[in-house]
This record gives sequence, C-alpha cells and structure tokens, in this order.
Amino acid sequence: MKIEVLKESAPNKLCVAVREIDEHFLNALRRAVNSEIPAFAIDEISFYENTSPLFNEYLANRLALVPLTFEEGVSQQAQIVFSLEADAAEAPRTVYSRELQSADPVIRVFCERIPIMKLGKGQKLKLEATAVQGRAREHAKFQSALASYGALPDFRVSSKCDKCGECVNACPKKIISPQIKLTEPSECILCENCVESCPKSAVTVRPKEGEFVLFIESYNNLTAREQLERALKLVAAQLEFVEDGIKNPRKLEKLAEEAAATKAAAEKETAEAAAKAAEEALEGAQSHVNLSEQAVERRADTKEEKEEKKEKEQKAEKKKKDKKDKREKESKELKEKELKESKESKE
Ligand code: SF4
Ligand code: SF4
Repeated sequence: MKIEVLKESAPNKLCVAVREIDEHFLNALRRAVNSEIPAFAIDEISFYENTSPLFNEYLANRLALVPLTFEEGVSQQAQIVFSLEADAAEAPRTVYSRELQSADPVIRVFCERIPIMKLGKGQKLKLEATAVQGRAREHAKFQSALASYGALPDFRVSSKCDKCGECVNACPKKIISPQIKLTEPSECILCENCVESCPKSAVTVRPKEGEFVLFIESYNNLTAREQLERALKLVAAQLEFVEDGIKNPRKLEKLAEEAAATKAAAEKETAEAAAKAAEEALEGAQSHVNLSEQAVERRADTKEEKEEKKEKEQKAEKKKKDKKDKREKESKELKEKELKESKESKE
C-alpha cells in the first residue's frame, strides 16, 4: 500500500491517494476512521434548573454532540464533569458551547462558538454533565472524524481530439484544462459528462484499478493525519489479531467462547433489568390503582356524609317548625281562654 498526500487545505482536512491496495482493506480503513477511533462525549446530564422552552431530553441530545478535545494519555475510564449555568436576566440571549466549563482541562470543549439554545428574558439553565470515552460504533456522538473514498480516474484523450473544448465546458467540477488534462484528479466524480459531450469520441474516463482517493475530515483537536494514523494502527492490530487466530485456532476458539459468555451474561443482565423494570412498573400501576380506589372511597364517604348532614338539617328544621306551630297554638288557646273568661266575668 502506498499513500500520497494530494491536498491538505487545513489541519482537519486531508485528501490522499492510496495505491496498491485491495478495496476491502480501504473500506476497513474508512470504517475504522468513522467508528473505531476513541473519543470523549457528554454522556449523562443532571438538570437543576431549566425554564427554557426546550425540554431536557432535547438539550441533552444537543450537548452530547458538542465535540470535545482530549489530551494524549487521558485514562479510558476518565469521567470529566462539565457545568453550565446561564440566565437571561436582562434580555434574550444565545447560550454557546464555551459556557460548558470543564472541571479538568485535559478534556475541554473543542469548538466554543456552537450555539446550544436561546434563552428568553428571565429564563435560566443550570446543569452538570459527565463526559466519558466511547466509540462511534456505540453511539454517533463519539464520532470524531469522517472518511470517504472513491476511485481515482483514468482519464485518456486520443489523437482524434481537436481541442474543441466541449468537454471542458461539460465538466461539472471544472477540472479539465484547455490542454485537455485533469488539473485535480481527486475531484473527478466519474460522471462521464466529458465522454458524452465529446463529438469525436476522443475521451474516455474509467476508475483506475487499485488506485483510490481517500478524504478525511476531523472534528476534534486531532488533525486529519493523526486520525488516519490511529485508524491505520487499529486496522493493523485487527489484522494481527486475525493472523494470530489463523496460526492458533484454539486461541481464537477460546476468545470466541469468552465473547459468547460475555454476550450471554450481558443478555441475562439486560433481561433481569427488564424484568425488574416491569415489576417496578407493575408496582407503580398497583399503587396508582390503590390511590384511585382510596380517592373513590373518600368521594363516597363525602357523599354519605353530605346526605346525613342534609337529613339532620331537615330534621332540625322540622323540629323547629313543630315547636313554633305548638307555641302559636298554645298562645291562640290562651288568648281564647282569656277572652272567654273576660266575657263570663262581664255577664
Ligand atoms: S468524469 Fe465528470 S468530473 Fe470527471 S473529468 Fe469527466 S466530466 Fe469532469
Ligand atoms: S470534447 Fe473531445 S474533441 Fe473536444 S476537446 Fe474534449 S476530447 Fe477533445
């Protein structure tokens, strides 16, 4: 395998020609860059205050995607705490990634100008987040670089060419010079517009056998070159592992058995956790039912109490009325008696 740097427009962007390589190996290299290089990302967040219109889960998703730098030699088990405290007491404002303060400078926010959210006047955000190491094959938030590849073009012009310039105008990438040569072979997308536009059928373009162009873009403090070097080391280690396994099949079998045992243990743990969660959910539902029943009973009690009270009130009212009627009757009888006695005395 031969690697030649074609373009390095910035430390985080690299374009290389890779020759004398099997495409399967190049694809393994691409996959290693995209998903195997370890990187740090925010994993768990405790929200203490969030009066913004964005709910916690949405914010957690955004924060996890903020790229973090990490220094060489940081422990794989390191858990670095970040804190963020922002408010918009005076006027609405944007919260940027630079406000995520790291408790340990070995891991920091890489790009400080990433807008996280907007706070309205009087709104507040207070949280604590923990960054851990992982790989993009576990979660996309750990992806620190992106790689892609294509074939290098085999661009040929025959003696029939009369330099009419049709192919120059037809090329969407504008990489054919007036001398009908490719100025940037790595930019060619093999669209064959040049072939179709040529009135003399003088141009041919095909992918070169075993020659590729590889693009790498890094998103953290590692340069694209460093990302490529790390990916190459990872692929080399994997190939050594396979080679060793072929030489010592028993060792490979043992490793496969260990991996199967680990997988079974993990599955058992997951099943147990799911069963426990289901049990807790059932308990929660039961307690909810109990609470509902108690509430219904309380409502029934209240209804009975109300009826009893009403009955008592009606009885008291009736008693009062009976007393009044009795008093009125007695007073009437007394008056009649007095009147009768007065009449008798006059006679
Ligand atoms: S194949 Fe397409 S991109 Fe490549 S040189 Fe021809 S026209 Fe340009
Ligand atoms: S279109 Fe064909 S003839 Fe015209 S310049 Fe291109 S290769 Fe030559």
